[in-house]
Amino acid sequence: MLKIDEVEDSKEFTAQCDVVVIGGGIVGVCATYELARRGVSVVLIEKGVVGAEQSGRNWGWVRQQNRDIHELPLAMRSLRRWNEFDEELGEDVGFRKTGILYGTEHQADVARWEAWLVKARAVGFESRILTAREFQARTPSSRANWAGGVWSESDGRAEPSKAAPAIARAAQKLGAKIYQTCAARGLDLSAGRVSGVWTERGRIDASRVVLAGGAWSSLFCRSHGIDLPTINVVGTALRTAAAPAVIEGCFSGPDFALRRRIDGGYTIAVPGYGRMELAPQNLRYATKFRKMFRSKLNKKLKVRIGESFFSGPEAHRTWREDEASPFEATRVLDPRPDVEWLSRAIRNVVKVFPELSGLRIAHAWAGAIDTSPDLIPVISSVPSKPGLVIAAGFSGHGFGLGPGAGLLISQMVLEDTPEFDLHPFRLQRFSDGSELAQPEMM
Ligand SMILES: Cc1cc2nc3c(=O)[nH]c(=O)nc-3n(C[C@H](O)[C@H](O)[C@H](O)COP(=O)(O)OP(=O)(O)OC[C@H]3O[C@@H](n4cnc5c(N)ncnc54)[C@H](O)[C@@H]3O)c2cc1C
Repeated sequence: MLKIDEVEDSKEFTAQCDVVVIGGGIVGVCATYELARRGVSVVLIEKGVVGAEQSGRNWGWVRQQNRDIHELPLAMRSLRRWNEFDEELGEDVGFRKTGILYGTEHQADVARWEAWLVKARAVGFESRILTAREFQARTPSSRANWAGGVWSESDGRAEPSKAAPAIARAAQKLGAKIYQTCAARGLDLSAGRVSGVWTERGRIDASRVVLAGGAWSSLFCRSHGIDLPTINVVGTALRTAAAPAVIEGCFSGPDFALRRRIDGGYTIAVPGYGRMELAPQNLRYATKFRKMFRSKLNKKLKVRIGESFFSGPEAHRTWREDEASPFEATRVLDPRPDVEWLSRAIRNVVKVFPELSGLRIAHAWAGAIDTSPDLIPVISSVPSKPGLVIAAGFSGHGFGLGPGAGLLISQMVLEDTPEFDLHPFRLQRFSDGSELAQPEMM
C-alpha cells in the first residue's frame, strides 16, 4: 500500500474566497501555503487525497544538480524553502540536506556534467566534479569501473509520504480551507474572466484560480478550449525494507537511482524508463514531442495501447458542470508498475553495492508523469482566461521544485513582481511559433 500521511478536511464548505487552488499535490499545497502566509483567503480542492498522486509516488530527490538551466534558479530557491520548512511549518516534511552523488563509468557523462556546471555557475550554483579516485573514496563500498562523478552538497531528499500533507496542514493552520474528495468540474466565467469554480459540492466564488492538477491538467484545460500539450508517461519505483546504509542521500549509478529513506529502507528505480499509452491526448500532442522522442529518451520509452485510451486523464471525455466528471471517476490515479524494471533496478544496485544483496521489495508502485515537450513546467497565466494560472507539466522533477513554484505562483496571483523570469514557463511557447528548446534535463 502507498503510505501517505493524512490531512483532515476543513469543516464547513466555503462558497466564497479570493483564490481556489485545484489539486493537492506538492505544487498546489505549496501555492496554498504561500498564499495563506500572505493573508489571502484560499481554498484548496482535491479530487482524491492530498499527496496521493505523483507527489506521494516520486523518488524524493530534491535537487538542483543537472537541471535544465532555465529552471535552475527556481530549483535553487526551492532548496532554500525546503531548508526553512521544518522550523517554519512546525511539521516534518522529511527533508534532509544529504547531498546528491552521480557516478558513471563513461567519460562522456563526466564531460556533460562539466559543461553543465559551467552554465550553472553563471547563475550561482556550485557542485564538484569528482575524479574516479575521488568518487571511489566517497563510496568506498561501491564496485564499478568508475570514470568519475559529480557531488552536489547542497541538494537533499525529502519524504513524499510526508511532504505535501505536512505543508497542507501548515496552510490550514494559517487559515486555508482544504476539501478532499472534491473535484473541480470546471471554471465559471463571467464576461470572459474567471469568476468561480464548479465543484462536485457546488460552486465556489473566486476571481482567481490556480490549476495544479498534475496529470489531469491537460484534460481540465481541454474542457475550456485551452491547449496544454502534455503527455503522461508512467514511471515505476519501489521501496525496500530496512537495509544496511551504503549511502545517506541520493545516488545515481549505472542504470539505477537510489535514495536512503528515513525508515531505513531505500527507494529505487531505473531512471528515465517509462511507459506511454497511445491514448487520444498523447496522440493529439505527439508532433510537439518530436524532439523529445528523438532524444535519448526514445530508447527508454515503452509505447502501448492500454486502458487510458478509454478512461483516465488522456481519454477523450466531455461532461457538464452538473454531472459527475472524469475527475470523480478516478479519485487516485494508480497505474500498474512495470514489473520487469523492478528486478532490473535491484540487480543494477546490487552489482554496485554487493552488501545490499539481501534487498527485499516492500512495495512497488507507478505514477503518471505530466510531461511537457521541453521537459520544463508551464507556470503561466492564460491570456484568454484572465484570473487563471496554470502550474503543470513538471515533467518528472516537480517534487523538488514545488516550494519554489508555490512561491512563484503566489507572486503571480497577487500580481507582485515575480522573482523569476516567467518567459521559459509561459504556456504560449507551444503555440506562438517559438522554437522549443532541446530538452536539457539530465
Ligand atoms: C516515479 C516518479 C518519480 C519521480 N521522482 C521525482 C524526484 O525524485 N524528484 C522530483 O523533483 N520529482 C520527481 N517526480 C515528479 C514529481 O513527483 C512531480 O513532478 C510532482 O509531484 C508534481 O506535483 P503536482 O502537484 O504538479 O502534481 P500531483 O502530485 O500529481 O498532484 C496533482 C493533484 O491534482 C489533483 N487533481 C487533478 N485534477 C483535479 C480536479 N479537477 N479537481 C481536484 N483535484 C484534481 C490530483 O488528484 C492530484 O492529487 C517523480 C514522479 C514519479 C511518478
